[in-house]
Amino acid sequence: MEIQRLRLVLIPPPFQGHLTPMLQLATILHSKGFAISVAHAHFNYPDPSHHPNFCFLPLFYGLSDTHISSNNVVDITATLNTNCVSPIKELLVDQIQKANINHEKIACVIYDGLMYSIDSVARELKLPSIVLRTTSATNFLTYHAFVQRQSSGCLPLQDSMSSDLVPELEPLRFKDLPMFNSGEMQKQVAKTIAVRPSLGVICNTVDCLEEESLYRLHQVYKVSFFPIGPLHLLAEEDSSSSSFVEEDYSCIGWLKNQPRESVLYVSLGSIASWEEKELTEVAWGLANSKQKFLWVIRPGTIGDVSEWLQLLPEDVRVAIAERGCIVKWAPQGEVLAHQAVGGFWSHCGWNSTLESLCEGVPIMCQPHFGDQGVNARLLSHVWKIGLEWSTVMERGAIEGAVRRLMVNPEGKEMRQRALKLKNEIKIAVKGGSSYAALNGLVKSILSVNI
Ligand code: UDP
Repeated sequence: MEIQRLRLVLIPPPFQGHLTPMLQLATILHSKGFAISVAHAHFNYPDPSHHPNFCFLPLFYGLSDTHISSNNVVDITATLNTNCVSPIKELLVDQIQKANINHEKIACVIYDGLMYSIDSVARELKLPSIVLRTTSATNFLTYHAFVQRQSSGCLPLQDSMSSDLVPELEPLRFKDLPMFNSGEMQKQVAKTIAVRPSLGVICNTVDCLEEESLYRLHQVYKVSFFPIGPLHLLAEEDSSSSSFVEEDYSCIGWLKNQPRESVLYVSLGSIASWEEKELTEVAWGLANSKQKFLWVIRPGTIGDVSEWLQLLPEDVRVAIAERGCIVKWAPQGEVLAHQAVGGFWSHCGWNSTLESLCEGVPIMCQPHFGDQGVNARLLSHVWKIGLEWSTVMERGAIEGAVRRLMVNPEGKEMRQRALKLKNEIKIAVKGGSSYAALNGLVKSILSVNI
């Protein structure tokens, strides 16, 4: 039988920060001639009509609504990995049969690093496999360092060590590590680094940002690495949204009326959030800073935003009305690219970090959990475009940090460094290291299928 098309089956977990880069990867590989199927959970999935070139395959992983709405990534990941093996296996067997009928071949399964259980399924079905790592290479390196410590008896990590530097991972401190203080995370780290995808690992990163971490990963993890990021830049020609929440474009109109680099964009991504008391301190701090701001308060963060605003003192309400814009969900890419935006108060999720780097916008770092501590440290101590501050949720501390980023010379210096990095990243994508890694990836998939 003559094979007319190679098909890739992509398997993202149901989290915005993981699904978006997987769909960007799908766009890139589709442009290289591959047919694309996306196997996704029955919740938190994109609108298929935004991606007419892909085939979407919903799967039921047996999670309850309460479990889903808990937003507990570590816990949901554990259940997904227990429950996904049989449905994924059935789906892949079905895909192999359909491919035969359609003169296609399943060329490779590409699964997110969180979905580590798929490793054995791909092996059993003799399908080539690749893992997509949607966090930084440095974060992935911390997994290896942790497991090495475990095997050499240098554990457990004690609370008293939290502010000490990790000797093999400087400038990271123990408290920056994603598995610090999380037993369940430690178990998952061991499982996810045990996977051995036959074709290698795709990293959503850029050589110029993480050269040393990538080099060290090569040394400890004997598979090929393809640092082809930032995926959103490589997939640039495709502007289709993969957001779960509808983007509010009214804020772009508001930005148009603001002076250059005058606006602080405030967003904690799709999972992290502030409690009501903290939101009130943020409102005060932003008002007192006298800076313009665009603030994302996601649905579910607080009962009713308008009611909460009414409870604030008049001075703060007036300041928000005069200098602020609040939305439920922003078109973040366009916001960061807008000339009016001069800073980003971020939880330092990896996608937000990359998106900000690519637009030359410096960050006021407030990591919450997972890989965010690592990213914040890279921003503040390696690339020096991130502001490390006390993160005490108190209006005076917030006002001070906002002014440091938006008004003080240190903020301006960070912006200049950020612009330099932006250019280096552009070069990597347009014919440099990421471009070359992508060609290597495509060759590698073709080489086992022709
Ligand atoms: N995002 C967005 N609009 C918003 C807030 C976030 O489009 O109002 C997008 C953002 O561009 C990024 C993703 O949501 O691509 C968040 O991913 P990240 O890795 O930064 O954080 P996570 O949500 O995984 O914690």
